[in-house]
Amino acid sequence: MQPSARVRTLREAPVDPGGTHVLYWMTAARRTRSSYALDRAIDWARELDKPLWVLEALRLGHTHASARLHAFVVRGMCDNAARFEASPIGYYPYVEPKLNAGKGLLQAFARRACVVVTDDWPVYFVKNMTRAAAAKIGVRMELVDGVGLVPMSAPDRCFTRAHDFRRWCQKHADLWLGPQPRVNPLARLQLPVAGKPPVSRSKWPAAPVEPDAALDHVARLPFARDIPAIPGEGGSKAGRARLRAFVATKLERYTERNQPEAEVTSDLSAYLHWGHIGAHQVLRAVLASEPEWSPASISDLSRGQREGWWGMSPAREGFLDQLLTWREVGHNFVWHRPEDYASYESLPGWARTTLRAHASDERPQLYSLAQFEAAATHDPIWNAAQRELVQTGRIHNYLRMLWGKKILHWSASPPEALEIMITLNDRYALDGRDPNSYSGICWVMGRYDRAWGPERAVFGKIRYMSSDSTRRKLRLRAYLQRFGPE
Ligand SMILES: Cc1cc2nc3c(=O)[nH]c(=O)nc-3n(C[C@H](O)[C@H](O)[C@H](O)COP(=O)(O)OP(=O)(O)OC[C@H]3O[C@@H](n4cnc5c(N)ncnc54)[C@H](O)[C@@H]3O)c2cc1C
Repeated sequence: MQPSARVRTLREAPVDPGGTHVLYWMTAARRTRSSYALDRAIDWARELDKPLWVLEALRLGHTHASARLHAFVVRGMCDNAARFEASPIGYYPYVEPKLNAGKGLLQAFARRACVVVTDDWPVYFVKNMTRAAAAKIGVRMELVDGVGLVPMSAPDRCFTRAHDFRRWCQKHADLWLGPQPRVNPLARLQLPVAGKPPVSRSKWPAAPVEPDAALDHVARLPFARDIPAIPGEGGSKAGRARLRAFVATKLERYTERNQPEAEVTSDLSAYLHWGHIGAHQVLRAVLASEPEWSPASISDLSRGQREGWWGMSPAREGFLDQLLTWREVGHNFVWHRPEDYASYESLPGWARTTLRAHASDERPQLYSLAQFEAAATHDPIWNAAQRELVQTGRIHNYLRMLWGKKILHWSASPPEALEIMITLNDRYALDGRDPNSYSGICWVMGRYDRAWGPERAVFGKIRYMSSDSTRRKLRLRAYLQRFGPE
């Protein structure tokens, strides 16, 4: 097997050629196309001439488990089941029916495996769960990074400015524009056919994979919080349809991305977060949408410039800058700061200094987590953004920035503001619990930003945003009507 910047060994044990199968434990790249982890598992199965089993499981007991998040994931399971059905690969979807019912399932799957491959996901409980699982597995276990275009291990430093990261990406374009994951690894795939699953079906019954039955199963689960599913959201099929529609009808107008009413953004972040779509699929679709473009169009100058490097239209360059620079600078941070990426102490020194200097400034309003959560502030724009989050699992990016800035303005202290943002975003957002959740939220408090003047109460030198200027800049009538108090 080829060494790769995307593969790390989590469990240094020998591969067992006498095992009965190769196991891919799918936890983050929950898809069947353009997936380095699936490619790696297939390569192992080929090399060892063994069947491949894919285990995709969903826990009930993590902090933010809800019908909303489960429904998103099980739609993906339905899509995956249909695709694997027509291949020699065995697929086992499992949704815990009650707390901890899935205990032992992975070990049972791994007991007679030759080698175990799983996803390298750098945040939330998945990271720790994978490490804990590795300790109980007797064979080699590999982590495969399919998170983004740039392998997370490639940059050897933690970038504090997007400009520097962009420049690094431009200089190392061969690394991420070069070899890609297989577009459709299941096409004409020849492997030994997986027969009966190597676990007890009565102890761990496979989850239903017919969409109505799967959603019905989720509706009956005992979640700690009542956060309803969002109809039509989730799964690789929906993600690919969204990508096609975005490229065909919105991408050309992406320069208007700051206007919520223009509705030109891709709404792909949740699909990227859950791995229902991969960054390479998005990149390929965008590159293919400009027929004259070829790698030769790329500028020779790698100065970190936002425009003019790709040699594409401004709208496409603007979109790719979000997909590559802004999305992946967040991956870079959590890779280099695995223990404290979401902590107050991880903010830049200048930001903490200025916030400390204004810690005792009087807040114009003061709200608790419960008041924020109930959209019970005095500000109709802020309340509308919070309602959008609660009702749809999303907030338009510009309003998300304002949403965060005002939580900083109206909380008792900056550390408390950070906690409130993380709680609400992780609880309700379909794309929450992601490296970009913490980079977006920490951006509100100065990460990747610089000091701004004039110095203001509460914010100090942190970039300020106000609802009044937002109202002047954005067309918000329809938005405020849609997410108004009724
Ligand atoms: C307070 C706050 C919290 C945020 N929380 C999250 C979060 O939980 N999960 C999340 O994925 N993003 C988060 N972001 C970043 C950004 O708001 C979303 O990525 C973006 O709005 C998603 O919408 P879209 O898919 O239509 O983006 P598009 O505009 O279509 O962009 C395409 C892709 O590029 C990436 N992207 C776009 N804007 C940003 C950005 N500013 N930072 C990082 N990546 C970006 C996303 O992966 C996105 O899907 C947050 C930003 C802020 C200010």
